[in-house]
Formats: sequence, C-alpha cells, structure tokens
Amino acid sequence: MKAGKVVSLVVAATLAVVAALMVLIFETAPGLQQGLEGVPIIVRIGIIAGALGVIYYLILCPVGLLFDRAMREMHRFFVEVATSEQVTPYRVPKWLIPLMHAFTGAVEHFRQQEVDFRNQLRDLEVRHRVSEVQRRQIEAVLHALRDGVLVTDSFNEIVMANDMAANALGFETKDAIHHPLEQVIQDQRMIELVSDAKETMNTAERFHVEHELAVGHDENGNPTGSCLFDLTLACVEDHKHEVGGVVTILHDLTREREISQMKSDFVSKASHELRTPLSSIRAYVEMLVDGEAEDESSRQEFYQIIHNETERLGRLIDNMLNISRIEAGIVQIEREIVDPKELIERAVETIGLQAQAKNISLHTKLAPVSLQVEGDADMLYQAVLNLASNAVKYTPEGGRVTLTADSDNLTRSVVISVVDTGLGIPPDAVSKLFEKFFRVENYKRIAKGTGLGLNLCKHIVETLHNGQIGVESKLGMGSKFWFSIPMRYAGSQAA
Ligand code: ADP
Repeated sequence: MKAGKVVSLVVAATLAVVAALMVLIFETAPGLQQGLEGVPIIVRIGIIAGALGVIYYLILCPVGLLFDRAMREMHRFFVEVATSEQVTPYRVPKWLIPLMHAFTGAVEHFRQQEVDFRNQLRDLEVRHRVSEVQRRQIEAVLHALRDGVLVTDSFNEIVMANDMAANALGFETKDAIHHPLEQVIQDQRMIELVSDAKETMNTAERFHVEHELAVGHDENGNPTGSCLFDLTLACVEDHKHEVGGVVTILHDLTREREISQMKSDFVSKASHELRTPLSSIRAYVEMLVDGEAEDESSRQEFYQIIHNETERLGRLIDNMLNISRIEAGIVQIEREIVDPKELIERAVETIGLQAQAKNISLHTKLAPVSLQVEGDADMLYQAVLNLASNAVKYTPEGGRVTLTADSDNLTRSVVISVVDTGLGIPPDAVSKLFEKFFRVENYKRIAKGTGLGLNLCKHIVETLHNGQIGVESKLGMGSKFWFSIPMRYAGSQAA
C-alpha cells in the first residue's frame, strides 16, 4: 500500500475517532446540550461529521497528498542514490529540502569514505604483497648464508632464525619462532648477551664477542663437543626508532682456526723439509770450496750428492706447488680419454731400472677388456708412478711389485692398484699416510722422500678426478695401494 493512502486512511480514522469523541462531549456537556436541544442525535452527528469532512477535504486531504508525493519522491531519490551514480534532482516541498541536503551530504561523505577505504585497501594489499616478497627474499638470503642469524623482538621472542643458527644453538626453526629465547636455547651466556644488548645498546652500536657453544648431545643431554663462534650483536630499530629487538650473527671460527693451524703446520713442516737437502748441499759445497775433497773421485762423489739433493729439492718444490695449486682450485686439467693400461705400462718402464737395481720383479695384471677413463693423462700417470715408485722404494731386495688395472662393476669404477711384498705400514701410521709430509719414522733411513707424494696422489684422484684412494697393508708382509675413478665420471666402457 502506498504511503499517501496510508496517511489518508490514518487521517480519516483519526477524524472518525475525534467525531465520536465530540459526540460524547456534546452528550455530556450541559451548555452544548441546551443549544442543540430538540435536534435528534443522528442529525447532530451528521452536522459534526459533515463539518469534519469539510475540514478533511479542504485541509487534510491536500496535505496528505502533498505528503504522499513528497514521500514517493524521497523514496525514489533514496533508491537512486543507493543504486546509481546518476541521480535525478529531487522535487520536494521546501520544508524537506534541508533534510534532503543533509541526506545527500551524508551519502556523498560515505561515498568518499568508501572510495578512500577502497584505495587504502588496495594500498595495503600491494604493500602486503611487496612485504611478502621481501620476507621471502630475506628468508632466502638468510638460509643461503654460511653464518647463523638469529633475530629476537622486544619481548625476547625469536622472530627469525636460519638453519645455521638453529644447528649451532640446537633447536628446530619451526618450533622456535614466536617462543621466548630462554625457552628455546640452553646456553645461558647467549641468553644474557642478547638481553644485555637489548637493554644497553643503541641502534647504531655493534658488539663482537667470541663465545664457545656446546655442540652435539649424548643420550643424557650432555654436550659431546664445542665450537668457537664470533658473535656480532646489533639492535633492530622499531617504528618509533627505538630498540625493538636484537639480531645476532654467529660466525663459526672452528674451520678458520683449523685452517690457520694447518697453514702454520704446513709452513713449519715445509721449511723443515726444505732445510734438510739445503743443509746437505751447503755442507758439500763448503767442503768443495775448502778443498776438502782432495781427489777427483771424492769430488765426483760430492757433486753426485749435491746433484741428488738438488733433484730432491726440486721434487719437493714441484710437489708443494702442485698440491697448493690443486687445493687453491687453479689447476687446469686437460680431459681426454685415457687407457689405464698405458699408464701402467709407462710407469713400469720408468721404474724398471730402479726395480732392477734392487732385484725386484715387476708384474702387471691387466683386465682383458678395454678400459678407458676420462681424465688428465699426465696427472693420472704421476699418481700411478708415485705409488709404483714407493712400492719399489719400500720393498727389500728380491721382492715383487704387481700393478693391476681392472673394472669394478659394483662401484662402477676402474680400479688401479699397486701391490708389493715390502715392509708394510705400521697400523698406527695408516690413517696419517696421506697427510702432507707424513713419513714412517723408521723408513726415513731406508729411502729418501718428500712425504708429499701420497698427498699429491690423493688430490689427483679425489679432488681432480672425483675418485677414491686407499691402502691395505700388513706390517712386514707388504702393502696394496689402490685408487678408483668412477665410470660415470670417467666415462669408462669397461665390460
Ligand atoms: P715419500 O716421498 O716419503 O715416499 P710419500 O707421501 O709418497 O712420500 O709416502 C709417505 C710415506 O708413506 C713414506 O715416507 C713411507 O714411510 C710410507 N709409504 C709409502 N708407500 C709405501 C709402501 N709401498 N710401503 C711402505 N711404506 C710406504
């Protein structure tokens, strides 16, 4: 039902009620009753109703229609404003205009607010996406770092940690995030350092400290070892430019310490090894200068010793250079298809005289199938020659040295081995055999050497050719030195 009709009906009903009330008043008021005395009640009601009807039709009905039209106009206007951008101007009575103005003003205001909110929402979405990408980038960088990174917030809760930090401090990253540091890690000193940094440092400061962290735990939770770390602590700024957390970088110094120890060991061992042939050369040269070699045969003997020592010095320096080049990764290896049988035949030829001088018989056992590996022929030859030459050096007169080349289908590799019936290796020396400058003490008198040959072999096989090297030996019975090159890497076609 339309609003105007409702209004008219309400007005008519009100008039009827008023009319009834008036009749009652006329009936009960004595003055009025006297004036209308003699007039029947039905006529009286008719007069009053007629008068009210006239009032209704002359005054209230036009007002109701006007009101009805205004209501309809407002309804149309409100619907248009709510649903469309294009609004037909309203035509309402003057007294409603301020209301309509207020309404349109409010709608305009809400519309503007909606636009602002939408823009803000879009901005926030963009910012959220950007910060999500940035978060992923930071996480990728953190996880790629070799140093441990641990970030705590102003409540000392862990907000970020990479795997290195988790490993060093013994926690699982996923279980640690948003948990208080003191609940996650056991190292009290570390907890103190982080909370001290938060309390005492400002955002521009950095604090370095060396700290030993317990690593590896047995079944009772006791640490099985320790690692030395260089800790760098710095404060993180919050949005108010105040200290909002602490970032701790854990730099493992263990490897650096080991390397620097290895370097100084190498320098002292190298100097020692260089000094021995040098002292010998100097001594014989001095004797020659002082005329201590009286006859030609003594002089020849001295010259020969000087020559041998110079050769040894040269070998030592060559080996040192080769090893350091391989370790530094600057060796250019010339890859080609190499036949291991050829390497063995060349080596046997080279050490033939040396073996003959000691009455050592040389044998070869070569696989009946074609063996081919991909690698640097000169380097691999050097490795075979070193092992074969050692076998002859450390095998007493009348012994036997056998060189073999075969394929190992189980490990998919080509295996070259040198077996001798020599002195063998003392069990406690086996693990150190491939270390730089290691020489079995008792064998130093038996043969001269540099202590670098096996280390160079290991580098040639393992570092340059991705292979493996090893030794099996029984003291007094002989040794078997072997190395293998994986077929996949070597591209062998061995059957
Ligand atoms: P070196 O120049 O002294 O031979 P290497 O590095 O080749 O240096 O060998 C290291 C040490 O290993 C040797 O000094 C020797 O004591 C021991 N060794 C190597 N090969 C054999 C072998 N076939 N039998 C016994 N001992 C060996």
